[in-house]
Amino acid sequence: MLPKLIKIGNSLENVEEELEKLSLGNKALIVHGKTQTCKIAEKIKRAMGNYKVIEAGVEKVSPQTVSTLQKVVKENNIDFCLAVGGGTSIDAAKYTAYESKKPLVVFPTAPSHDGIASPNVSLKGWMKPYSLVATPPIAVLYHLPTLANAPYELVRAGVGDALAKYTASRDLLLALDTHKCEEDASYEDLRAVAYEHFITSAKIVTKEIERFREEGWEDVSSWLGTDSYKTFVSNLFFALFSSGLGMAKINSSVGASGSEHNIAHALQCNNRKHGEKVALASIPMLYLQQSCLNEDKIFGMDWKTIREHLSCLGLPTTVKELSIKDSEMVNAVLKGLQIGKMRKRYTILDFYAEKEKLNESSVYSILKETKLI
Ligand SMILES: [Zn+2]
Repeated sequence: MLPKLIKIGNSLENVEEELEKLSLGNKALIVHGKTQTCKIAEKIKRAMGNYKVIEAGVEKVSPQTVSTLQKVVKENNIDFCLAVGGGTSIDAAKYTAYESKKPLVVFPTAPSHDGIASPNVSLKGWMKPYSLVATPPIAVLYHLPTLANAPYELVRAGVGDALAKYTASRDLLLALDTHKCEEDASYEDLRAVAYEHFITSAKIVTKEIERFREEGWEDVSSWLGTDSYKTFVSNLFFALFSSGLGMAKINSSVGASGSEHNIAHALQCNNRKHGEKVALASIPMLYLQQSCLNEDKIFGMDWKTIREHLSCLGLPTTVKELSIKDSEMVNAVLKGLQIGKMRKRYTILDFYAEKEKLNESSVYSILKETKLI
């Protein structure tokens, strides 16, 4: 079943009524983060007067966190999980709900990635695999006042994750065209989802960045809090939601996570946001796709333009801005190829490696050409 999108009123007045309509039972486990999202979870709990609510704050998605949460679900006869937060809370709750065979509702507090509505759980630091396919949420609660108030660094990370769909989807089409795609879904479904969900998401966000640039805001700080910014956040949210829906349809992240995600997975800088890393890696991958496939643009985008778009929103476009060494980025690209093989995802890196030598020196030149180093 695909997640339902439910609009929540400004003062959370319809949270309880909307949850009741879903008929999930009356015992809920709210999984939230340890800092900001804790306060939002508190307000939601108050708005759920008729429910018996247990709260759990999580810091990371470790096997231990998940087993602790599972225990809470079992001991308290929990009917459903409600994730309140960004990446960590959603992933922890998604995994717990999946393992406990309970439904999940998500209340995202930041539009920071496309895992909001997807069945995928990212497992940072679990060595491998890098993600697993659980079940998508039953419903996603959309509350614009909360999203528009999210820290800007989370919002811009969401932009990075949405723009990464250009390269990820091109990688998928390349795999389909060369008959190297190992997915369960049919070629027709994969192609349709790539266009309808992933490429459209990237295009929605691109349009929003163009609007930001056309409106001539001097800098991001003067733009925050304005109606223009709220529209941006809202459209970004819908783009990320749609991308997650696409993943739920094909039960895989293929087309939403390609070579750029593989490189990002290989980067050790865990203090940086997922969206920042995938966005940076998408610059050289877009360049490779353009040059190896002889295409001026990839779904209307080129590496120089994406670089400008990322930069004007304050996302890193150089290795230095990500605070890593040149050699770390070179190694991440090389490791990205291996991660792709492990994930059985054919990408532009495989295509390149079949024709040219993919080694330290060639990666160095690619990164230099695209001004990452
Ligand atoms: Zn992603």
